[in-house]
Amino acid sequence: LQDRLSGIFETLTKRGALSESDVNAAMREVRRALIEADVALEVVRSFIDKVRERAVGKEVIRSVTPGQMVIKIVHDTLVETLGAEPEPVDLQAVPPVAIMMVGLQGSGKTTTTAKLALRFTQEDKKKVLMASLDTRRPAAQEQLKILGEQAGVDTLPIVPGEDPVRITRRALDAARLGGYDVVMLDTAGRLHVDEELMRESVEVRDIAKPHETLLVADALTGQDAVNVARSFDERVGVSGIVLTRVDGDGRGGAALSMRAVTGKPIKLLGTGEKLDGLEIFHPDRVANRILGKGDVVSLVEKAAATIDAEKAQAIAERMKKGSFDLEDLAEQLKQMERIGGMSGVLGMLPGIGKMKKQIDAANMDNSVMTRQLAIINSMTRKERRQPKVLNASRKKRIAAGSGTEVQDVNKLLKMHRQMADMMKKLGKNKGMLGGLFGGG
Ligand code: GDP
Ligand code: MG
Repeated sequence: LQDRLSGIFETLTKRGALSESDVNAAMREVRRALIEADVALEVVRSFIDKVRERAVGKEVIRSVTPGQMVIKIVHDTLVETLGAEPEPVDLQAVPPVAIMMVGLQGSGKTTTTAKLALRFTQEDKKKVLMASLDTRRPAAQEQLKILGEQAGVDTLPIVPGEDPVRITRRALDAARLGGYDVVMLDTAGRLHVDEELMRESVEVRDIAKPHETLLVADALTGQDAVNVARSFDERVGVSGIVLTRVDGDGRGGAALSMRAVTGKPIKLLGTGEKLDGLEIFHPDRVANRILGKGDVVSLVEKAAATIDAEKAQAIAERMKKGSFDLEDLAEQLKQMERIGGMSGVLGMLPGIGKMKKQIDAANMDNSVMTRQLAIINSMTRKERRQPKVLNASRKKRIAAGSGTEVQDVNKLLKMHRQMADMMKKLGKNKGMLGGLFGGG
């Protein structure tokens, strides 16, 4: 795959806007990469269309190749489609918060129920009750009980002969009476989606009114997983997805398929049979896996860094003219957060060693930058453009708006003044800033 993708870079060497044929050539390779990653065909098609729409006609930034530009667009679209930010299971509701686990037989519902219960108990300090509604598979209820003992989590006592609806009612009562924070309902599956399974799931749902309904799906089932996801979402309604057996599938295609078809977030990944084999889903990591490891990832990063450098150059131009305002500073801070700290960025700029030392001394870490960005975000446009207007009452308002103190606002303004002065001096020293950014 990596060979093929680097092939794109060779074929796309023209400058200017991305042409339709540039993009089409790249899309053929991307399509193959997605299919190799086991992404469902219908999803491949719509994904490619989306990327094509975004890419054709897009101006290629001066210092990246058209190929890098396309890959960057592919990567960003992938991350965005996968959900951009991790979404945790939501427990914010009146206890006992009911969580219902649905999915086909063997997908990993029971195991995931226990994994999640363990996590809620240990990390969220919740009191959790688990109940197995699986009256079909012999020993299914026993399986959950044993896992509960391993995890140190309570399970609803088994009453032979009860149907899933009765067990649900009993679980809810027990959770209420026992002062549980969370009650987890591990439902029965079938080998295939069928009417009876759906009816039973709907019945349980209507009684339990779950705060979250998590669809558990096996990442290895590939194309079929999409139909399963669609059926469950249409009939029962799911709030999130857990993909299991990710430890056996390095490709990540199922995640993209499930997310694209249902629009529901992938919340967790099952990464092993043991109870600690559960991970938060990180869209960017999975995007990298789908595109192929190694080279491509570093190419994307390089492209992103170059694009940042272009922005930095625009700011440098403004600095030269002595018009470095707080909006420019905010843009700088955002880049620095991404690159990993003020010293990292300044280390790349020769001639700013002195200021780097000052800033190191001020101990600028990422949390400081986040606070500084919050301060700038609490300002009006006018204040950002003309920091001079910031009087005591405005500063007080900004501090309150950003959850900081007036002295933090003052510190930021002082830093901005120092930077602006420094930049002005550097700007006068002809050619110097050009030398900083002229590389590309
Ligand atoms: P259920 O029928 O949906 O309740 O599925 P189970 O929870 O009983 O799991 C079926 C099998 O898959 C068991 O042998 C589990 O140990 C195994 N399993 C579940 N999740 C994972 C996972 O994330 N990785 C691996 N390797 N095995 C898993
Ligand atoms: Mg089970």
